[in-house]
Amino acid sequence: MNILILGGGGREHALAWAIRQNPKCDRLIVAPGNAGIAEIAECAKLDILSGPDVVDFCGENAIGFVVIGPEAPLASGVADALRAAGVRTFGPSAAAARLEASKAFTKEVCDASGAPTAGWARFTDAAAARAHVAEKGAPIVIKADGLAAGKGVTVAMTEPEALDAIDLMFGGEFGAAGAEVVIEEFMDGEEASFFVLCDGTDCLPVGTAQDHKRVGDGDTGPNTGGMGAYSPAPVLSPALQEQVMEQIIRPTVAEMARRGTPFQGVLYAGLMIKDGRARLVEYNVRFGDPECQVLMMRLGGQILDLLLACAEGRLAGYNVEWAADHALTVVLAARGYPGAYDKGSVIRGLDALPQDSRHMVFHAGTGERDGRIIATGGRVLAATARGDSLAQAQAEAYALAEAIDWPEGFYRRDIGWRAL
Ligand code: ATP
Repeated sequence: MNILILGGGGREHALAWAIRQNPKCDRLIVAPGNAGIAEIAECAKLDILSGPDVVDFCGENAIGFVVIGPEAPLASGVADALRAAGVRTFGPSAAAARLEASKAFTKEVCDASGAPTAGWARFTDAAAARAHVAEKGAPIVIKADGLAAGKGVTVAMTEPEALDAIDLMFGGEFGAAGAEVVIEEFMDGEEASFFVLCDGTDCLPVGTAQDHKRVGDGDTGPNTGGMGAYSPAPVLSPALQEQVMEQIIRPTVAEMARRGTPFQGVLYAGLMIKDGRARLVEYNVRFGDPECQVLMMRLGGQILDLLLACAEGRLAGYNVEWAADHALTVVLAARGYPGAYDKGSVIRGLDALPQDSRHMVFHAGTGERDGRIIATGGRVLAATARGDSLAQAQAEAYALAEAIDWPEGFYRRDIGWRAL
């Protein structure tokens, strides 16, 4: 089968690496891909936000299955265009992708299905939003309704912070994404991520993870796209996972089907856990980056069968084959990230590193120049390893990171600390 993956980050490198291991995969094309992906798949230039362009490309290349990595093509309806053209596709419709693209929509679905989440209210004008903050007090959480690349959320510990965030959002800081603002009750607890494949009707958990969003050791400094992750997340015990399936995931999937917009793809639930209970923080409608790197390392080649079963509505009775092991990934970022950073520095030493089912350096923001690998983004590499214990996975992932010769990069030294 010829397979097309849309995207070009660490998530897509991990998906390509795992899918490649499955004998059902013949030709593998990734658009746009990156320098690491180019070692295991063909990279193609393609406007991945254009449904018609992607459909044409699939026709020209006899693509039998499309896997959509990032949220933007999902929100722009690329999965709808592909399914309408009869191309088997993994990823939700634009209508179902609203679970990520609109925070107010997710809250409506939670209310309709009874899923536990923070109390909330929605506003389209600053005065009413400010009055709400004055009434509720701090801490309180202010969110731009739409997609803002992870930057549209302010967890305000004081009222002035909350009011500033409201003014910024209604002042146009996030464009149309901030035209509506959701204000939420602050939830205290430990965060974890839960990944569940959904075929519109049935659901199958494919792993838990925790990530580190802050740039600095000890979870300090500004927020990033994620500086590292590990799987499984010990805080999400099997009993708690069952509670989340019963109270949050299955009711969401049923509510989406009831609305005539069934969810097909991976539902990535961000959870807040306290006193043995989980509440929903948010949904994403695609795999996380860097969480995908640790999930793919643990799932390996079976992921293609799982994604196909999901796309074909065959998840009922499906089982995941789990190794009782752990995976951990350390993100190497360009110095200065998440602020301004330089592009184009040369990365050396990657060729000498092991690339096997237990060790892999996934590329996120890389390119090739004169036969050398160069950094082209903020988050550049994800040094990923599996181990029989989390401590072993951590030691192996750091051994990979340390062996990479890239003076212009840096990484956190404490990924996994919470669970160790
Ligand atoms: P990202 O892209 O980083 O996942 P996002 O823009 O989709 O973020 P959320 O995940 O809703 O937004 O919020 C980002 C972070 O803010 C959460 O991971 C969590 O740490 C914090 N947060 C969000 N809502 C709440 C809440 N109600 N109580 C406490 N913290 C919250």
